[in-house]
Amino acid sequence: MRTASKINRISVPPLLRELAAVFNAHGKQVFLVGGAVRDTLRGAKSADWDLASDALPADVMRIFPGVIPTGIKHGTVTVRYKKHSIEVTALRADGGYTDGRHPDSVSCASSIEEDLARRDFTINAVAAVLPEGRVIDPFGGRADIEKKLIRCVGRAADRLNEDGLRALRAFRFASQLGFDIDGELLSAIKERPAMVNPVSMERVKAEFDKIVASGKPSAALLYMERCGLLELLMPELFLCRGVEQKGRHRFDVLTHSLLACDYAAGRGYRRTVRLAALFHDLGKPAAAKRGDDGVWTFHNHETLSADITRAIMTRLRYPNAEIDETTHLVREHMFNYTDDWSAGAVRRFLRRVGVENIAPLFDLRRADSFASSGKEPPPELLLDFRDRIASVLEAGRALSLKDLAVNGRDLLAAGIQGGKSMGLILNSLLEAVLEDPEMNSRGKLLEMAKKLYDRAV
Ligand code: ATP
Ligand code: MG
Repeated sequence: MRTASKINRISVPPLLRELAAVFNAHGKQVFLVGGAVRDTLRGAKSADWDLASDALPADVMRIFPGVIPTGIKHGTVTVRYKKHSIEVTALRADGGYTDGRHPDSVSCASSIEEDLARRDFTINAVAAVLPEGRVIDPFGGRADIEKKLIRCVGRAADRLNEDGLRALRAFRFASQLGFDIDGELLSAIKERPAMVNPVSMERVKAEFDKIVASGKPSAALLYMERCGLLELLMPELFLCRGVEQKGRHRFDVLTHSLLACDYAAGRGYRRTVRLAALFHDLGKPAAAKRGDDGVWTFHNHETLSADITRAIMTRLRYPNAEIDETTHLVREHMFNYTDDWSAGAVRRFLRRVGVENIAPLFDLRRADSFASSGKEPPPELLLDFRDRIASVLEAGRALSLKDLAVNGRDLLAAGIQGGKSMGLILNSLLEAVLEDPEMNSRGKLLEMAKKLYDRAV
């Protein structure tokens, strides 16, 4: 592959050439900008195409049918063309920034160079003229792509003052692309990490999600630690630095958590598992107790970790379903299976964890194991437990209330009043059936229910 700095023309997909021909036929220029150019220049596939044009939204809506006004305020519309959705933004120049997150005004730029000048990093400030693909690179973006360097367009401190989110974006790109952060940019963030404070939680979460979805979340998180951003945005994780685990393994809690999260990312595990890997030991700083032998214990830290995980994810406005799943994985991560577990114990475990959470919980255990030893866990890790679970599931035994041979209506009919005691009785019946599946018959359960009820009233 040619090195990025030598590329003066990128190859343009036929669909974009066609689209550009339509713009040109109406006397308008159009450019490929942003991530698509950056990714093409570094020899990677690009996910989506962002276009910039001297056509205004109203022009684009006249030229193409069915244009969607996705971000009219910022001059952006979405063109539907041959089943693709392509964002087209009018060439922009931002007015001043006074709030550290939004430009005070947005006006039209007279040239692509002016538009590129308001972009965040040099690697994102390269354009390709369509349809032919000629590269326009006023800020040395190609050289920085080659050097794998994230550097601001213009003075870092000024650009960060305009929009504090850029600090997080820089670290997100470091995780996604495996690039380093330029020294001036790093110092500017370190100098004033509080610049992220005015940024909305939604934007912070969007960047955090991309960090966690990347191949190596630790790259961004370690940069954040170095610059004071971790302490500001996720103090709970920051507190894990230096929490020793002598007697268990050689990593402190933060390093262990980052290793676990990177492992989960590297294996392509789903987001909740990656988050659980990052958060599973957050309760350790508070739970740590040092024994007389100098060995640390962290009794019941998983409960604290689950509470802290819920607090962080609520603060970041994750959807409830994702918060619940991640928190549940964190709370259950300490299970300790041995082959002397009875079938009843396996069934109770399945009931508590939920069949649907077994695979993610086992993924989390692999990540945790890797992060303790620093070595790939053996293939036989949890294999016996998997087999035991499979045979319990195959036997088709009752694992939840809905599998019981009686339901609430049956109990009501048998004279048991509804309400709180009903729920308690149903749960006791399930406990009995988990222990002994032979109990799951209508007659036996009704008899047991009546006894429990008589005792309670
Ligand atoms: P990807 O879409 O792969 O995450 P991208 O570089 O396309 O990466 P977007 O968030 O889609 O990122 O933004 C498109 C382009 O808009 C960027 O490449 C950059 O030029 C510009 N940009 C986005 N956000 C900012 C910002 N906060 N400040 C300055 N320029 C920005
Ligand atoms: Mg993009």
